[in-house]
Order: sequence, then structure tokens, then C-alpha cells
Amino acid sequence: MLSLASPSGLRRLWGGFLDLVLPPRCLSCGVPVAALGTLCVACWREITFLGAPCCACCGYPFDFDLGANGLCGACAAHAPQFDRARAVMRYDDSSRELVLALKHGDRLHLVPTLAQWMRRTGTELLAEADLVVPVPLHWTRLFARRYNQAAVLALALAKLGGPPVSADCLIRRRRTPSQGRKNALARRRNVAGAFAVRRTSAVRGKRVMLIDDVRTTGATVEECARVLKRAGAARVDVLVLARTVRSDG
Ligand SMILES: [Zn+2]
Ligand SMILES: [Zn+2]
Repeated sequence: MLSLASPSGLRRLWGGFLDLVLPPRCLSCGVPVAALGTLCVACWREITFLGAPCCACCGYPFDFDLGANGLCGACAAHAPQFDRARAVMRYDDSSRELVLALKHGDRLHLVPTLAQWMRRTGTELLAEADLVVPVPLHWTRLFARRYNQAAVLALALAKLGGPPVSADCLIRRRRTPSQGRKNALARRRNVAGAFAVRRTSAVRGKRVMLIDDVRTTGATVEECARVLKRAGAARVDVLVLARTVRSDG
């Protein structure tokens, strides 16, 4: 029941009022759309949503189905530290707007829709996870940005019925320079030793789902997975909003 005495009741009423006076807008480009929390047709067409068929391990999209255990060349040559990784969409010029808006733009109204997309992509992985752990920011960056976009996505997933979130068991103990223009080797060196598990008891024996917004070379999630496994995690799966696909360069 909607109670005006509670802050959430007032918020819902205010939200309903805004829906009446402001037409819903495309989450990416801002043109009017029919329903809240959606993309316009043009933006929807531009986004490359990823799914099967893909590498059973890292989720790299395949043109052809190689079967349930088919691996891409990179995973076959060198098994990643994580068990399975999946991404909602390809990180490219079209999805960058959504991802950067979440990271730097304080556009948190995107979050419920993005979390729903992540839940759909990660249904199988989430069903087998005991604990959701967001990739942490260093506290100085958290202070400057005011929120950790990975933690915001993890909490929104939990609200949709996902596994419980532990936002403090994995910490970033040193501030790493931006991964921006670095190549794969430099990125791995950049994050080596940057993460630590603060509460080993929280992850020991657990199936952990690591959450982040963007994955490029995978150096960050691999380093987090390595540290979590060393602390005793039974498995580490990864779910991100967007990933580069190697042919992107
Ligand atoms: Zn649009
Ligand atoms: Zn792979």
C-alpha cells in the first residue's frame, strides 16, 4: 500500500507525478519514447547485444555454435583466472554513451534498466552464485566520484532478486593509473597487486559473481578473480555491462 507517511511512499508518488508531466525519454539519446527505461528504435538497433553462441569461458561471441563447451582461441591457449564471463553488450561507439553516462554523468536513472539487462544476460551464472562482489574503486576515486558504478549495478541486481552483495570484502589497495591507452601487457602490470580480499571468511568456499561496468582486455577482472580464488573462492564468474570484442583493437 502506498503510504504518504513513509519517504518511499512520497518518492513513488513524486515519481508517478513526474511520469505524468514528463514524457519518457530514450536512455541514450534522449528523444521521447513510449515507455520509461527504454531505448529509442534507432539506439536499440545500434547496440550490439551479446549472447549465444559464444566461448563457454570468456563469452567471446562466435559466428557459429561450437557446442556447450566450445572455447575461443585465447581461452584454449591460456585459461583465464575466472571460470565464466558474460557481457550484456559490445563496448563500442554506440554503447559508450550509456556506459560513460553511468560512470561519470550521475545518470543513475539508467541503473534499473541496465541491471535488468544484466540479469537477463547472466541468468544462468547468477542462479549458481552465492555472493555478488563489485570490482572496487580506490577510496580516493570513490571520494571524487561519490559512487562506485559497479557497486550500484550489483545492488540493483540484488534488488531484482539476485544473490546478496558484499561490497567490502574485496578492496583496491592502491590507486592504479587509468587503463585507457595501455596495451594488454601494460594493463596486467598496472593492476598486479592492486586488489586484496579483506575478509577471507566472506569468500571462502563461495561461488562469487564479480560485477563491473566495462571489460576491455580483462586484466582487471582477471586480477580480481585471481585474488578471490587465492582467498578460497570456490568459483569466480564475471558479469559486465559491456566488453570490447578483440577485433575492435
Ligand atoms: Zn535513442
Ligand atoms: Zn574465450
